[in-house]
Amino acid sequence: MNKETDFSEWYNEITEKAMLTDKRYQVKGTNVWLPYGWKISLNIDRIIRDEMGNNNHDEVCFPTLIPETDFNKERDHIKGFTEEVYWVTKAGGNDLDVNLLLRPTSETAMYPMFSLWIRSHADLPLRIFQIVNTFRYETKQTRAFIRVREMHFFEAHTCHATYEEAEEQIKTDLDIMNKIARKLCIPYIVCIRPDWDKFPGAKYTLGIDTFMGGKTLQIASIHQYGDNFSKPYNIMFEDLDGKQKHVSQTTYGMSERLVGAIVGIHGDAKGLVLPPSIAPIQVIIVPIYTKENRIRVETECNELLAIIKNDGIRADIDKRDIRPGNKFYYWEEKGVPIRIEVGEREVSSHAYIIKKRTGGSADVGMKTASSIIKKVLDDISDTLFENAKKTMDNIIIEIDKRDAIKDTEGIVKVPWCGSESCAHELENIPAFKIHGIPYVEETIDSKNRKCVVCNKQFKNHLVMARTF
Ligand code: ZN
Repeated sequence: MNKETDFSEWYNEITEKAMLTDKRYQVKGTNVWLPYGWKISLNIDRIIRDEMGNNNHDEVCFPTLIPETDFNKERDHIKGFTEEVYWVTKAGGNDLDVNLLLRPTSETAMYPMFSLWIRSHADLPLRIFQIVNTFRYETKQTRAFIRVREMHFFEAHTCHATYEEAEEQIKTDLDIMNKIARKLCIPYIVCIRPDWDKFPGAKYTLGIDTFMGGKTLQIASIHQYGDNFSKPYNIMFEDLDGKQKHVSQTTYGMSERLVGAIVGIHGDAKGLVLPPSIAPIQVIIVPIYTKENRIRVETECNELLAIIKNDGIRADIDKRDIRPGNKFYYWEEKGVPIRIEVGEREVSSHAYIIKKRTGGSADVGMKTASSIIKKVLDDISDTLFENAKKTMDNIIIEIDKRDAIKDTEGIVKVPWCGSESCAHELENIPAFKIHGIPYVEETIDSKNRKCVVCNKQFKNHLVMARTF
């Protein structure tokens, strides 16, 4: 398996070997989360919950079923999702009076309730989120974490008195994204999606994409709804001036694709490489003993484990009766950031060598073990992020000739006049997808740039790439 030459096969293989999910479940496109994969996912959820809590969001949990009558209220939204919806039309032997659908996302579940909850300006801003499973009938080929029909999903929904306040929320969401992605060691770009590709029902959509295996992977999106949903769903408040107004809304979505990004970006020929922040086991201790010293070695391991666990490091001892070499191999596949071997030498010195999954080592004594391990975990996190960032920066290339786009690997930035027809011309380039214009356009010499299609004056870059 070679990440460079056959990313797809490599990705499937290391996911399977690390035992993250089992795809043999009898409903196609849905996977079983195995304990190790689920622990990783829960650790990501914990990071998200912390950040949302720090930013004044409350967690809620809405029902999975949505009545068709509520789903049908926002026309663009229905149109965007209708092909992907799973329907529930029967209960027991009876046909339902109103058909129900499994949520593909929760706008249409939440907003009828928001209209009951919000009465006055004192009820705003409303900021909530939930982490639940959503259901979308994907017709493209499914792949663990990246394209599945039942998805572990995060969604935040906010309501504000004004459009400007909703705009401020979007800036906060981008700050939150920055913090979460840094902890997961994932670099990304932010684009304003083209109007014809925005979220169904949104005023505009920010797409957040990372890059792996020669393609971009969308890992998050943030949407400005303005009053597009509050009008059909009648979400109104009485303002200070006594007038009834519609709220402005935003949403922010992420999903188990974050696990896919971690697998795809950091993994190597040996298997997973997990960022310490989400590794279920940060330190694995491997005892290396003979018949004679087994008890002494195990005692040493137990003491070391007790010390570092007490200091909040997630650690374990591999006590299985298999050869140490097989254990090394096993924990490398699982991406554990640090391995410590304990044998006769370590028993007598109470000093150990820390082996980093990212390469290299450090020395540590029993008494100072926790503080040094924490520092090394931070170093590993820095290394993972910097390497990924460097790789991503290197593949973002400006291309000013239309014919050269199709042969370019990576993310291309194409000078563009701003006209939709020129963009649609570019969409004909096989395999390439338009991601939109950069959310923040660098300061550049725009005078000397011309649209690659019509040669008229440059307005923005269009970001294009192959995509998952
Ligand atoms: Zn043009």
